[in-house]
Amino acid sequence: MTKDELKAIVCAAIDKRQKDITALGDNIYTEPELGYKEHKTSAKVQAVFDKLGINYTTGWGITGVKGHLKGRTSKRTVAMLGELDALVCRNHPDADEETGAMHCCGHNVQIANLAAIAMAFKDTNAMQYLDGDLVLFAVPAEECIEIDFRNTLRQKGKIKYLGGKEEIIAQGGFDDIDASLQMHVNPTKKTNGEIQVAGSNNGFIAKIIEYKGKAAHAAFSPSEGINALNAAMLGIMAVNALRETFKESDCVRFHSIINSGGDLVNVVPDYVQMESYVRAASVDALKESNTKVNRALKAGADAIGAKCIIKDLPGYLPLFNNKGMSSLLRNNSTKLFAPADVYDGTHSAGSTDMGDVSHLMPVVHAWVGCVHGALHSAQYDLFDRNTAYSKSPKAMAMTIIDLLYDNAAELETILAENTPIMTKKTYLEYMESIK
Ligand SMILES: [Zn+2]
Repeated sequence: MTKDELKAIVCAAIDKRQKDITALGDNIYTEPELGYKEHKTSAKVQAVFDKLGINYTTGWGITGVKGHLKGRTSKRTVAMLGELDALVCRNHPDADEETGAMHCCGHNVQIANLAAIAMAFKDTNAMQYLDGDLVLFAVPAEECIEIDFRNTLRQKGKIKYLGGKEEIIAQGGFDDIDASLQMHVNPTKKTNGEIQVAGSNNGFIAKIIEYKGKAAHAAFSPSEGINALNAAMLGIMAVNALRETFKESDCVRFHSIINSGGDLVNVVPDYVQMESYVRAASVDALKESNTKVNRALKAGADAIGAKCIIKDLPGYLPLFNNKGMSSLLRNNSTKLFAPADVYDGTHSAGSTDMGDVSHLMPVVHAWVGCVHGALHSAQYDLFDRNTAYSKSPKAMAMTIIDLLYDNAAELETILAENTPIMTKKTYLEYMESIK
């Protein structure tokens, strides 16, 4: 069996399984679950693996599922990742009425892609032609939301880190993996889909900010109070005054929400809690801008004699796509997409915990254009199901075959040319340094 013949039969198997693949994607869409709570979605992945006779382990980052397919020889291991979680988007017509959860970042499509590869590789016995193992990893909690809830999980010792992939790295779930790939849906104006095969993303540091003042009657005796809400507003304004000092090349972003801004309108608020991210394009820029932001936030409290307590939490690291893996994905994508619809992309200000994985091993994180409306918005609409459920898993499957075919020669070259940015040890040291 030549490599091209193997790719052709695996792609044909994805065609044959279209009904099963789309049904799973749609089913997960109707039951969205937030990070570290994806128990039903996790069970759906396990059911797919059970049906196909794929061995797996569970409990990775609470809900993660790690499936294993053995190659002809077990030289190297490649992982295909799919994210389990949804996020909150109450205004979306398809949002869960109770929780507001909604798959408006399309992670259900990722799990369907993961299942497509599981089905196609099992249906065709593709692994007997490959010199390496394939891990099919359903991973939790990519959306870094409900920071207060996750911090509580941390305090209870249930998790160490906010992001699912970070947690799994700490648990050792990536120790036996040499390279990883995943797809993610993306908005597009094209009618036949498009795919971004390279580019980079910002990382971020998350924070919980508390302002403590002194309560007093807002009309009789405001002079006796210390207004924590004013302190918070001054803190935000102080960060805004910093913006001109951020270098364009560092792509710094600061955004915050107020979780708690006072209880009663006629009482001077004595407590405000905020959540925020500081994002930047490199670890150095992250640390530098974070120091400035914290100084500015504290200045808001100093101005009026309030207290400001900042809890920094390790967010995600910047994402760097591996050139060799991008190149394989680009070549495979040109067989499925029009040449103008396969592109490299530039730097994006958004973040993903795939960035953390990219500091440890070669990765490729594809952005597959198949939705209308912005990600995370009420307008999100998966309109191009052929690109999402057929072209995308085929591009990923062919890239996996490239990596592991012929003594995993392509992967060996990629690994020989790649110097990991961090070891697991230096990674964990960095994570512990953010506090
Ligand atoms: Zn996402």
